[in-house]
Amino acid sequence: MNYKISKVAASLSPSLTLAIDSKAKAMKAAGEDVVGFGAGEPDFDTPQHIKDACAKALAAGFTKYTPAAGIPELREAIAAKFQRENGLTYKPSQIIVSCGGKHSCYNVILATCEAGDEVIIPAPYWLSYPEMVKLAGAKPVILETTDKTEFKVTPAQLRAAITPNTRLFVLNSPSNPTGSVYTPDEIKALGDICVEKGVLIMSDEIYEHLTYDGAVVKSVASFSPAHKDHTIIVHGFAKAWSMTGWRLGFLAAPEPIAKAIDAVQSHSTSNPTSFAQKGGVAALTGPQDHLPLWLAEFAKRRTYAHQKLSSIPGITCVNAKGAFYLFPNISALGLKSTDFCAKLLEQEKVAAVPGIAFGADDYLRISYATSMANIEKGLDRLARFCAGLKK
Ligand SMILES: *Cc1c(COP(=O)(O)O)cnc(C)c1O
Repeated sequence: MNYKISKVAASLSPSLTLAIDSKAKAMKAAGEDVVGFGAGEPDFDTPQHIKDACAKALAAGFTKYTPAAGIPELREAIAAKFQRENGLTYKPSQIIVSCGGKHSCYNVILATCEAGDEVIIPAPYWLSYPEMVKLAGAKPVILETTDKTEFKVTPAQLRAAITPNTRLFVLNSPSNPTGSVYTPDEIKALGDICVEKGVLIMSDEIYEHLTYDGAVVKSVASFSPAHKDHTIIVHGFAKAWSMTGWRLGFLAAPEPIAKAIDAVQSHSTSNPTSFAQKGGVAALTGPQDHLPLWLAEFAKRRTYAHQKLSSIPGITCVNAKGAFYLFPNISALGLKSTDFCAKLLEQEKVAAVPGIAFGADDYLRISYATSMANIEKGLDRLARFCAGLKK
């Protein structure tokens, strides 16, 4: 049988981060001593009270369809979060709960972009953004950045990239894969341009709560009513509550966009899992005391990993202020990122994600969402590997 694959599906690259992660896990299952720096998820368990709320809902028979956009209780809790933490007033009708932050991003792009539209995406980017844009039939326009600007786009760069076809600008701070955090002034300058030019912003704020060194995170929506009218905030439970497997995310949007996304979602996934939503309510309304503990642990690992990476001849590394990633530059070592990571996994059994997956071939993504012992062991091996390359 000659299967016909649609042009759009055939044009996609499968997720390289998920591929590396599953290869490392398979090697581990086969008894090999693999150190994985590929994880895109916290290594902590979901806090107990969240699991309890979900289990209770399940036991009570909360197992049926809910409204496609989520249960009112959760949409209200999310609106209250934006009010409390961001000073942003949204009606529950402007909140859509989805099956993960990734799903929220996809819904936003599908509801706002079509053939002929351009979507501006700074690189290094979260690898799903350009693929989602392609799925919508629109065109990703990539803005290159390097470690020299801490992987941040400049206002001049953004302005020069905007055309009459620009529909959406994708902002992700703190960033996956670089961990970079834009300052409030930098965010405002980019937001100002989008307001002036009538470009929508998709602001992916899923790492909002994961910052270090006192970095301040401010949503682009919070600078003025006009900024808010131009912004769709994407967020979720995956990172700050360690709920990646729950598949639960959310967004806040101007009313007409929220309505369109509700329609898209009602014909694709329908509601996110009913009892998972009850866990989401507990996550937002319950105690947050897990977070300082996790942040202290992440901060310790980040400091160690940054110092160790910086000490390896041939590697330079920005000390990123957010998320749980570092993005070291390997360009002086003479291998492009795919070769580098393949050889590193083969020779030293260390899994890192090649920067090419994020549109930046001179770098690696190192996730420090793994134990300190693993980080020490893995970075020692990386240092030995790099020393071998230099000879
Ligand atoms: C993890 C992540 C998300 C959302 O992940 P879900 O598991 O779908 O909630 C969204 N954006 C970025 C940049 C991420 O790293």
